[in-house]
Amino acid sequence: MADTIPANISPLYPLANAKGTDLLCELCQKPAFIQCSKCRVTYYCGPEHQRADWIGIHAKICDELAVLRKPVPFLTSEKDRREKREELIQQQLRMIVITRTTGQKLLFENHFEEAVPAALQSLKFAIDVHGSSSVELVPSYLILGEASIGLQRLSQAEEYLSQAQWTVLKTDNPSNAIKSQLHRNLGLLFSALKAITVAPWRTSQLISSMPQTNTAQRTSACPVATSAWRIFSCTRTSRRLPMTCLDG
Ligand SMILES: [Zn+2]
Ligand SMILES: [Zn+2]
Repeated sequence: MADTIPANISPLYPLANAKGTDLLCELCQKPAFIQCSKCRVTYYCGPEHQRADWIGIHAKICDELAVLRKPVPFLTSEKDRREKREELIQQQLRMIVITRTTGQKLLFENHFEEAVPAALQSLKFAIDVHGSSSVELVPSYLILGEASIGLQRLSQAEEYLSQAQWTVLKTDNPSNAIKSQLHRNLGLLFSALKAITVAPWRTSQLISSMPQTNTAQRTSACPVATSAWRIFSCTRTSRRLPMTCLDG
């Protein structure tokens, strides 16, 4: 993996942007002032987040993002539009695999900070393809949760795992693999909370409310899930994207 950044940061000139266009940092969603000069479709609030993203995932996907984010040409035929949509979905599915594999590899190597940009990117692609409440988002939440535990950001970890748990609870027949991974991560959180003797009863509650066969436990409006988005409160815009301040 590249651990140094090539000279690919170019300044972003506000007057060069269309009036009313908000360019936001890829990681924290604050207003952007620089861009990746290689793909020219990814923006950052400053060099610190550009570097974090480059090391975490961007070096691997810069070229593909340039293709994915370029404006779609106007297509007159319905058949062409359908084929273009299908092609886009296939590209996004491939990106989900690349970003998740990268995030999991970084977790395995205990590079928790570096795993966050890859996991956030995978979450964004998963939302684009599957929608914001699909169980397909859970693997990304689990990577984010485990990275947060590794970084000792336990309240943030609880938010991510609560979001994962809420999504699993309202899914019909979630896979055993997803449920066991969620149990594992909740166990990690429990151990981390226990180690610092902070309210282990809270995580016990989370574990005891894991989905069983009783569908009556499911809920369509979980206040815990709603509060999970508080971790993105660093966002200054109204866009509700899954972003977090890497600075903690
Ligand atoms: Zn930023
Ligand atoms: Zn780039």
